[in-house]
Amino acid sequence: MDRTVLHCDCNSFFASVETVFNPSYANVPMAVCGSPEDRHGIVLAKNELAKKYGIKTGEVIWQAKRKCHSLVIAQPHYREYENFSRRVGEIFYQYTDLIEPFGIDESWLDVTASKNLFGDGKQIADSLRERIRREVGITVSVGVSFNKVFAKLGSDYKKPDATTVISRANFKNMVYPLPVSDLLFAGRSTTARLNRIGIYTVGDVAQAGRRAMEDALGKNGATLYDYATGAECSPVTPVNTEREIKSVGNGITFRRDLVGLDDIRAAVWALSDTVSTRMRSYGVVCGTVAVAVRDPYLKTVSRQRKLRNTTCYCKDIANTAVDIITGLVDISKPIRSITVTGMDICREGQAGLQQTFFTDEFSRREKTEKLERALDSIRARFGGDSVTRASSVNSGLGI
Ligand SMILES: [Mg+2]
Repeated sequence: MDRTVLHCDCNSFFASVETVFNPSYANVPMAVCGSPEDRHGIVLAKNELAKKYGIKTGEVIWQAKRKCHSLVIAQPHYREYENFSRRVGEIFYQYTDLIEPFGIDESWLDVTASKNLFGDGKQIADSLRERIRREVGITVSVGVSFNKVFAKLGSDYKKPDATTVISRANFKNMVYPLPVSDLLFAGRSTTARLNRIGIYTVGDVAQAGRRAMEDALGKNGATLYDYATGAECSPVTPVNTEREIKSVGNGITFRRDLVGLDDIRAAVWALSDTVSTRMRSYGVVCGTVAVAVRDPYLKTVSRQRKLRNTTCYCKDIANTAVDIITGLVDISKPIRSITVTGMDICREGQAGLQQTFFTDEFSRREKTEKLERALDSIRARFGGDSVTRASSVNSGLGI
């Protein structure tokens, strides 16, 4: 039996939340901007009226103002966004516990088992929209389909405040004419490569066939083919069912956005310092370093890497984390927060050093160990702030 999957997307989320607190925003073109006192701050979200002027998320304030002189600039209130996101999630939870968040303002819901209680997918979508509008004060667009990819296309298809059903019967008519860039994870470079071989629409992908797509883009090509033809069938995965990990982590939202490698290094070293100090005080080491990076739109990306040797030292964790980040995100773009986590935790001594024949590796580790143990004892005597790594001084990051 087909599943019923919903994708719910809060419309102009940041702007909508600001409008709840300041209803006059509803009648003027308005944009929520990072660092509004600085004309180089960027547009994080805009309302429908601002959209009409062609104002785009990500452009700088002065560019936006040039398109619309009367544009009202609002400051972001991240606490409230988290808060509203949680309230919307609580309403979802009354319909199903199979909820997979995708960013702060989007979620997939598997409501297959809820239909006896609440009606079919469209009825559930409509009632969710109505309740969120009434109880939270913002609007959502909902896509209803038999898989996650088409559900997501559906929530994009018509907005704001709309339900779009993409079924086995209508998906070819609805989805095939859409540009291929509308497909989940078809980014700009993938789209450009496909355009070069004459593939412009989702229908073109289906027409090309699995083999040709694979030839063009490798494994990603096959995945895109499955997306286009409705063969995608990944489950809606609630976050809390993920394998529970014993970990030591530290995350921080910075006083200003981080831009560039120096900023990132300073932040990561400060975070790794806390993580490693805590691990040493617990008497544990980690075998994997995980990093999560959040941008000003609250989109989070994360990655982890297994270490060659287990460690409880700042230097090992920080170097790995910086290396992961530079491979994970475009470091010239602003970063709002970073989390560094030591995973695969075990008791010190239990793991043992992996046999290595490089003596300089041993002496390097010994030196690191001596230095970091010394820092611990200084901190224990004089307090945590008594020793600060040079890179995090004067960076203005609030760390
Ligand atoms: Mg949204």
